[in-house]
Amino acid sequence: MKIREVFDKFEPYEWEMSPQEIAAIAGISADEVLRLDTNTSPFIPKKWLREVAIDLPNLPVNQYPDTKYSEISEAIADYNKVNIENIVVTNGADEALDLIAKTLLDNGDKVVLSTPTYSMFRITSQIAGAQVIEVSRRRQPPFADDIEEIIRVGREKEAAAIFLSNPNNPTGTFLEIAHIERLAKELGCGVIVDEAYYEYCGKSAVDLIGRFPNVIIVRTLSKAFSLAGERIGYILANKWTVDKLNYVRPPNSLSVTSLKLGVKALSDVKQVRKWVNKTVAERERCFAALKSIDHVIPYPSVANFILFKLSGVDANHIHQRLLRKGISVRNLTGVRMLENCLRVTVGSRKDNDRFLEKLKEAIESSSPT
Ligand code: PMP
Repeated sequence: MKIREVFDKFEPYEWEMSPQEIAAIAGISADEVLRLDTNTSPFIPKKWLREVAIDLPNLPVNQYPDTKYSEISEAIADYNKVNIENIVVTNGADEALDLIAKTLLDNGDKVVLSTPTYSMFRITSQIAGAQVIEVSRRRQPPFADDIEEIIRVGREKEAAAIFLSNPNNPTGTFLEIAHIERLAKELGCGVIVDEAYYEYCGKSAVDLIGRFPNVIIVRTLSKAFSLAGERIGYILANKWTVDKLNYVRPPNSLSVTSLKLGVKALSDVKQVRKWVNKTVAERERCFAALKSIDHVIPYPSVANFILFKLSGVDANHIHQRLLRKGISVRNLTGVRMLENCLRVTVGSRKDNDRFLEKLKEAIESSSPT
């Protein structure tokens, strides 16, 4: 059997270890492992789960879901002050990215990325047959998008699409909406704005979709809504664009039960705002705490994670030491511009304290490089 040529020299998505693997290394049980590598929420939505549990015996799981996802679409429309015709519901933001790539990209098309950024942009584009062109972020201010260079390269290569993560994973930086508008206007290609972390910064490019059919917003309930395990994402775009994305969308990619939870979550946005406020306060506390630790240089973030560089100690070594203490953070040392960097998710106050203490211990007992 042959597989596609694109996989001849392919760098797949890399995960951190599973909780079971970390538990084995640390000599603890899997539920004692502290996962601070996936940028998810520390809050379990028990109230929503309890309420949905009451309805579970009556759920028609013998049938497919309503393929129009009408109920959740109405809730998403309400939350974002858009019309239902502007929405495509997806199995997480990753499926949204996949649908967009399949809809926009032909073999050999060029995709511009402002790197370092979310690695699925490259992976999804390459699998769709496109060629990825990277424009490096600036050193100063740290990791700012180089808009002039993106426009220059986008024009020169006649890019078919630009994928932006805003706020950007893994750097935590924000690109002002006026710059996104400029990209949409001056390049005319697909400008995909992945706003997975929107709720932590409160600024969105959604107002652009009315004027620019080429602006496509990607969102998820995996982060601020605490539903990563339920796999609910959505796209916001102009009606013309939504109609085209629907050519590609599989009819049944969400489950009846996850849709129930999604609707429940979107009816309780007040609760989500409380969690977000707590996380943002913790982010600022952790940033100050990281700054006060010798050898640690944290970068400001407007999301629910913090990127930090280690100076004078080996980040791979610290990453390993944290794993042995049952804590998983994201190792980014192999990423260009992020040499000796780690990224930590902002968790609960208790979890953050455990991480900060173990990080200090790991650094203190580590030999200088
Ligand atoms: N986009 C970005 C920028 C992300 O960081 C992530 C999560 N790692 C995703 C999309 C994937 O989100 P989902 O769980 O909705 O597929």
